[in-house]
Amino acid sequence: MKNPPYPDRDILHTWGLSPKKSLGQNFLLLPEVVEKMVVPFESTMDPIYEIGPGPGALTWALYHFTKAPLTLIEKDSQFYPILERLQKEDSNRITLLPSDFFHIKDFPKHYFVTGNLPYNVATEMIFKLLTQDHPPQHMVFMVQLEVAERLYAKPGSKDYGRLSVMVQWLAKAWRQQVVPSEAFWPAPKVTSAVVEIVPHPTRKPLALQKAMSQILAQAFGHRRKMIRASLKKVFPDLEATFQAANLTGTERPEDLSVQTFEDLAKIYQKQVKA
Ligand code: SAM
Repeated sequence: MKNPPYPDRDILHTWGLSPKKSLGQNFLLLPEVVEKMVVPFESTMDPIYEIGPGPGALTWALYHFTKAPLTLIEKDSQFYPILERLQKEDSNRITLLPSDFFHIKDFPKHYFVTGNLPYNVATEMIFKLLTQDHPPQHMVFMVQLEVAERLYAKPGSKDYGRLSVMVQWLAKAWRQQVVPSEAFWPAPKVTSAVVEIVPHPTRKPLALQKAMSQILAQAFGHRRKMIRASLKKVFPDLEATFQAANLTGTERPEDLSVQTFEDLAKIYQKQVKA
């Protein structure tokens, strides 16, 4: 198959595109990176959404190596002419949604999402998707390596925190590839990584999600404190809580498993209802 016409520095120059720091714009210029990113979508016919297609490196790979309908969600109008050119290749299959991702409400029941995410809002974007009534079946995102490591960190490690617990409670996450800064223009100061995220099949009730967020905020807001100190304002009956969750209260938040945090959230719900 002929190589897709990926954007390079010259194309960006020809189209007069200049990167905006405020929108986290670092453009991907390495075909092998985007071609690996799209592998999980190769056989699906369910729609694929791309967040922030920009000049279209990942979009061209999606167009060439997958078969599903593609929806491109882009906020910055400087990219619309270049994306419209791509859309002309197959306007039945490619839809440009000139919009802010955070304003989009209607996702279908079955869909996939990918993107080289703007790093300043990447975790908010992942949270928005994970907490939808119908989260995507599979997500593949480029994020900062440091954020990626927090997503799949295990208890006891320095990266294990609020983000790790919440994401692993709602999904399975793993690293697909590490991407050096030279893969982008302009090169970011940090190393990047592609992560894959697959939501668990059973949704957590909204009220339990809220209880979980509240407990995590308190526990990891005081990371070095024992949980007896950090959780005392949350639970009406702290001693009964520790007994029911099989804890002593001297643990630090990074010692607790995702399951223990869920147990705590359920105990909290019972105590505040009682
Ligand atoms: N996909 C392109 C690539 O890999 O070369 C660009 C990736 S760049 C890191 C992030 C992209 O997300 C930019 O195109 C930026 O304009 C877009 N973006 C930033 N915030 C957005 C938002 N809230 N909604 C939609 N797109 C957004």
